[in-house]
Amino acid sequence: MKITSIETLPVEVPVDRRVGQVANAKGFRFRSHLLMVFVRTDADIDGVGEITASPDWSGETSLGAKALIDRHLAPRLIGEDPRRVRYCMGHFSRTFANPFAKAGLEMALFDILGKSSGASVSQILGGAVRDEQLPLRFPVMPVGPQESADAARKMVQEGFGTIKLKVGHDPLEFDLERLRLVRDAVGPNVRITVDANGGWSVNEAICAAPRLEEYGVVFVEQPVDRLDLEGLAYVRSRIRLPVMADESVFTVQDALRCLELRAADIISVYPGKNGGLLNCVTIASMAEAAGVHCAIGSNLEWDVGSAMMAHVSVALPNICVERYAADIIGPVFHTERSILSPLMERGGYVRVPQGPGLGVEVDRESVERCGEA
Ligand SMILES: [Mg+2]
Repeated sequence: MKITSIETLPVEVPVDRRVGQVANAKGFRFRSHLLMVFVRTDADIDGVGEITASPDWSGETSLGAKALIDRHLAPRLIGEDPRRVRYCMGHFSRTFANPFAKAGLEMALFDILGKSSGASVSQILGGAVRDEQLPLRFPVMPVGPQESADAARKMVQEGFGTIKLKVGHDPLEFDLERLRLVRDAVGPNVRITVDANGGWSVNEAICAAPRLEEYGVVFVEQPVDRLDLEGLAYVRSRIRLPVMADESVFTVQDALRCLELRAADIISVYPGKNGGLLNCVTIASMAEAAGVHCAIGSNLEWDVGSAMMAHVSVALPNICVERYAADIIGPVFHTERSILSPLMERGGYVRVPQGPGLGVEVDRESVERCGEA
């Protein structure tokens, strides 16, 4: 089997404002700019991938990823056997960074490998090690205290058992007031985590932790800057709350350093951020050997990227979905679907798609409707 062509299609997908404003440190995002990639073969088996590019997150954009793939990466794959996924991905080993672009291509190769062998991606990884209904955690964006509480209450009513409160954009007292109202709104049994997205200094993080504990927060995600792994390790040594590293761990080498410094109790992983499923598996295995848990993070994927995350979540024992609900929340936020069968059957859970490869059928009409002019 040989790859004959690779098509890239930029899309602009509306975000549902009713489920909360999607914010980053600079502002609010109401549309996701993504890149769909279609890998075609001479064997009548095609694969699909998705690139969740985001300039603030990985420095990538959908149009930049399109140029990179069209001009540099895709030509290296034409004529290759897509089922040799590791070999094919090795062609990009000297291309620096661009994890989401690489992961999108790898996703399509795994889709083809699965379809050609009759196995799903999770089966290729060794099969499901847990229930195929995966619990999710809903992110409450840095909006006002009452809006935060209203959003959390609504999503708990819809079935979410874990709320992730985005903090670190405003003064600590403001975030604590948000946290107080959210806890009041959802009651004592809902798990609450916080994600500072690197918004605190080392001292602020150390001061914040015991106050977060008063509201039953279960862990603090990326309290300090992504590049300050020593600072993260110092915070961890000074607080009782478990620390999750997210932005600090993109690459396998980042993970190694994080583990060496004992900078985190939990590492957030997912194929896009880690530059593909193979890297994600490596990081999860390294962490497991070091006694560190992993959890599935997110960059607000659409349905194809979310499907890949579901396969990874169900198949890797050290992605402890039972302890740390998965961030597969793209299907909640986006108002359009890119696949024919939705991943979410009920609120607060996604179901791992069944069937060969990613187990999804692309809704080409819907994808083209979202195509960027
Ligand atoms: Mg995070």
